[in-house]
Order: sequence, then C-alpha cells, then structure tokens
Amino acid sequence: MVNFTDEAAIGTPYWWEALRETAAPETADLPAHVDLLVIGAGYTGLSAALAAQDCGASVAVVDAGEPGTGASTRNGGMFGAHPRLSWSRLAAQFGPGTADSLFAEAAPARDFVLDLITRHGISCDLQETGRIQLAWTRSHAQAQSRLADDIRAKSDVPIDVLDRDAMSREITTERYFGGLLFADHCAIHPAKFHRGLWRAAAQKGIAVCGNAAVSAYERSTKGFTVRTACGDITAEKIVLATNGYTTLPFRWHLARVFPLPSYIIATEELPSNLIGHLAPGRRMMVETRARHSYFRLSPDGKRVLFGGRASMRHVPLEVAARRQHETMCEIWPELEDIRLSHVWTGNTGYAFTEMPHIGEDTGLYYAMGFSGSGTVMAPYLGAKAAFRAMGDARGHTAYADTRFKRHWLHPTTKPHFLRAADLWYRTWVDTRDRMQGR
Ligand SMILES: Cc1cc2nc3c(=O)[nH]c(=O)nc-3n(C[C@H](O)[C@H](O)[C@H](O)COP(=O)(O)OP(=O)(O)OC[C@H]3O[C@@H](n4cnc5c(N)ncnc54)[C@H](O)[C@@H]3O)c2cc1C
Repeated sequence: MVNFTDEAAIGTPYWWEALRETAAPETADLPAHVDLLVIGAGYTGLSAALAAQDCGASVAVVDAGEPGTGASTRNGGMFGAHPRLSWSRLAAQFGPGTADSLFAEAAPARDFVLDLITRHGISCDLQETGRIQLAWTRSHAQAQSRLADDIRAKSDVPIDVLDRDAMSREITTERYFGGLLFADHCAIHPAKFHRGLWRAAAQKGIAVCGNAAVSAYERSTKGFTVRTACGDITAEKIVLATNGYTTLPFRWHLARVFPLPSYIIATEELPSNLIGHLAPGRRMMVETRARHSYFRLSPDGKRVLFGGRASMRHVPLEVAARRQHETMCEIWPELEDIRLSHVWTGNTGYAFTEMPHIGEDTGLYYAMGFSGSGTVMAPYLGAKAAFRAMGDARGHTAYADTRFKRHWLHPTTKPHFLRAADLWYRTWVDTRDRMQGR
C-alpha cells in the first residue's frame, strides 16, 4: 500500500518546488524575422539558441507551453553521457569507425556541458556523485566487464567494475550481481539547470517565447514561414528541438521519435541514519533490467527519488506511484511504510536505435531521440545542430553519421504499438527479468 503525505503534490515534479523561490525570465514577444528559429525551449533548444547567437546569428526560441514544461524540468538529474548500446551493437548498426567515434565523444560531450554551466554561472546543485549501473543478473555483470574493457580502450571515460563486495559499500540490498561505476557522472538539479539556460539566453537578448506552439511551416526561397500561436515568423533556418513532445506538423520526425513516459516518485524526508544505511555511497543508480529503475537522493540528501517505467503508456499517477513504490520496496523493504510527497511523469523521446540523432533536411535541422539520457546529450547536440545550421566547424559530431530509423511497428505518427509493448513488457519481459534476477 502506498501512502502520501497530507500536502503531497500529485503531478508536480519535486524539482519545481525550488523554482518557486526565483522568478522566471519574462517570455518575449515574437520577432517578425530571425536567421535561426529554434522550436522547443528545453535543454536542446536553449543550448542551440546560445550556440547560434555565438556564431553571430539573430535567434528566437518558441515553445508550445511555458518554457521548460517538457522533460527538461522533470527528469532524474543524472548527468553523464555514454552510448546506451555496447560497442559491438553500435558497430553492427553504424560501422566500427562510427562506433569508435561515438564512444570517444562521451567525455567531450560531458565537458562541453560542464563548461556551459560554468560559462553562464548556472547554479544547479551540481554534485560529483558518480553513477553506478546496477547489474540485474549474473550475465549482465559479465557483460559489464566486457563493456568496461571497451570503454577503457575507446574513450577517456573513467570506469570501474564493482563486485558484490564493493557494491555493499555503495548500496544496501541483495538485488544486484555487481555494478559498473562511471566515476565522472554527476547529479544536477534539472529544473535549476533549465532555468539557468533560459536566464542565460534572456540575458543575451535571445527572444524566448512561450505559448507559441508551431502549427505549420512553409518553405520559400529565403527559408521558412512558420505559423505559431503568437503569429507568423520568417526564418532562414530552423532547429527542431521537440524530442518526446514532438507534434504535427513534424511528420517525418514523429515517425522516428516516440513519447515513452517515465515516472518518478519522491519520498518524504527520511531520517539521515536510514538514508546512510540504504545508500552509503550516495551515488546516482540505474539498473540494467529491461524496464529499468533509476534512483538517487535529492540534492539535500534527505529524500529518495525513484524513477522508472511504471507503464509505457500514460496511466493515472496514483497507479504509477503504487507501482514505483512496490518496485522501490523490492530493493529497499525498509521503505515499505514511508510516505510519498511527489509523483510525476514526463515524456522521454525514444528512438528505435535507443540513441540520439542529429541531422538536416533542407534547412530544417534537428537533434532528438535522447531515449531517456538527455541532461548532457540534449544541450550538447542542441549546440551541435545550431553550429551545423550556421556552417560552423564546431558542429562536427559522429552522431551525424548515424541513421535516424523508422520501424515497421510505428507506421503512422501515433505510437499505437506502445499499448502492445506495455503488455509484452509487463507480462513476459518482467517475468523473465524477475526469474533471472534471483
Ligand atoms: C521522467 C524523466 C526522467 C529522466 N531522467 C533523466 C536523467 O536522469 N538523466 C538524463 O540524462 N536524462 C533523463 N531524462 C531525459 C531528459 O530529460 C531529456 O532527454 C531532455 O530533457 C530532452 O530535452 P529537450 O530539450 O530535447 O526536450 P524537452 O525538454 O522535452 O523540450 C521539448 C519542448 O518542445 C516543445 N514543443 C513540442 N512541440 C512543439 C511545437 N509544435 N511548437 C513549439 N514547441 C513545441 C515542448 O513544449 C517542450 O517544452 C529523463 C526524462 C524524463 C521524462
């Protein structure tokens, strides 16, 4: 049974509490013309706008809602970038050279975003916690050793394999067969990071316009005429930065990126001795099982924030909270009777390749498909997309050498397949993982 605190916020991210203390930058009026129009004001779009302005372009950013109400203020704040796929799976899809380059780009991507944070003086509770990938089965632990070898050989990312003994110093549970420690991964406050990017853009005079959903666009010899809820704007180029919230008219992208919800619960404040017992290492944690959980402490170290795929479709938040709570208690039975203060959801923008993509179609550039790992990759590839649009050499990235694929399961713009996928995962895949995880 899941219990909520009396003031529990159902549907409001825990992170938004901190934003109440500071005023948001004012949203701007829509200019009539810009060199580059960015659609979507999350990490991708704001970083793209800053990069384009750095190249000397006039820029505006439009968002369908209040800037930041997408995934960028809803996520788990686990900060680090490494391809989700193994080197061999990347090599099979894109060739060994591109796989090498994608692995090698993980460290520079992280450094780029750390520099962005420093350069703009963004205060976002950055903590150098490291992140542990938790091996759900014995075979996952064996695969982690191979992955660690590939990472050491092909990138500058520091990596350590943890056996069960080493794991007991990090987390108190019998659930995992080992872990992989990404020592240079960090924790951030995602909403403060977003607010800092928005403020940086506003201070540089970039027009960031809320409630300006794009409903249509037309190409002309000079670029684009774009219809928004705030009026029309012309732009020579566009960067599309809508990820898991992509809508029509962007049919081509909608066929390649689909909204996969992720859910997070926050506990009430817990006694410090309980927190110290459950997670002595105070790391970011993410599992290897198919419908994986990810969890961390709040920046003040007082709460557990526990995320996962309670469903692959949108379900009532009370249902999601119950499922997340059950999963959390399988790992930490000590939390059975604690109360929840928050539950919320957001759309991850999933690609069938499980990795982000960047590309262009005659002046319309895009960066999306972060597949649940976007705190680094979204601002990084957002900037790359803008540099490419401006013809700046800083736009070079191996992600441009990958193909943003369609899948026969998703023939239209609506992800109907998620209903069947949810059933499949919740019955067969979960049962398999539960058996193998014993
Ligand atoms: C619950 C959850 C947990 C996550 N945890 C992590 C984590 O711990 N670590 C990590 O690295 N990543 C995590 N992610 C992923 C990460 O949050 C995203 O990859 C990242 O925020 C994507 O940023 P974005 O700017 O591309 O998209 P978003 O922040 O989603 O912004 C897209 C914007 O586009 C706008 N938009 C859409 N259509 C239009 C239109 N037609 N006109 C105008 N605007 C439009 C939307 O309103 C929205 O504001 C998580 C995601 C979720 C949902």
